[in-house]
Amino acid sequence: MRVQQHGNHLIQLTYYGFVNVYLVREEDGFTLVDTALKSCASSMVQMAQQFGQPIRRILLTHAHADHSGGLDAVHAFVPEAEFVMPARDARFLTGDMSLDADEPQDKLRGGWVIRKTLPARLLHEGDRVGSLEVITTPGHSPGHCSFLDTRDGTLIAGDAFQTMGGVAVSGTFKPLFPLVCYATWHKGLALSSARKLRALEPERMAVGHGRLLTEPRASMDRAIAVAARHLEHQTKKHVPVSRTEREFF
Ligand SMILES: [Zn+2]
Repeated sequence: MRVQQHGNHLIQLTYYGFVNVYLVREEDGFTLVDTALKSCASSMVQMAQQFGQPIRRILLTHAHADHSGGLDAVHAFVPEAEFVMPARDARFLTGDMSLDADEPQDKLRGGWVIRKTLPARLLHEGDRVGSLEVITTPGHSPGHCSFLDTRDGTLIAGDAFQTMGGVAVSGTFKPLFPLVCYATWHKGLALSSARKLRALEPERMAVGHGRLLTEPRASMDRAIAVAARHLEHQTKKHVPVSRTEREFF
């Protein structure tokens, strides 16, 4: 497990070299964002202790197994911590894999698990969790949410973007790390959500898989441009992806 601090409020824990969780420092303790896998749970609790504060809140970006897998185990260590997550994806953790009538009826992808810890609160656009503002970013999963730290402009983008294997919008195939693409439900919504996050002008971008970017805006622009061209190519079948883009992304 690798530990990195970014700015005054964010600690990144990386498990198995490719799964990130974050400890967001608040005055009363930490908000743990995502929970990786069950085997990582005790280490998250220990790291919070080493940094001198308890975990007060557990927050998920979305329900995929590599983000929710450790939920029950972490909650067993800190049962007083409040568990909160996006309302739409909370259904998946109960085993309800249905899509709503007003959602694209595309196949759900990625790994899913049922967890028994119940949310104390279901999150919607604009809600707050401590200093974090909730931004709905559907596409990777139907209820995926990102979180903006209003103190310093740090964006926790979950799997709306990846940086492992190159910076990309969720749904863009990256041969060196294709898992985020393989797990993406709807590429069109993912692209819209990426643009929504870019418009926030974040100062940092932390993601579920890969390194944190400081001053990420130009990288986000390039990734959005590539995703847009790929999507156009897929839908119209006549817009070629340039050689330069293939080489650089
Ligand atoms: Zn995911």
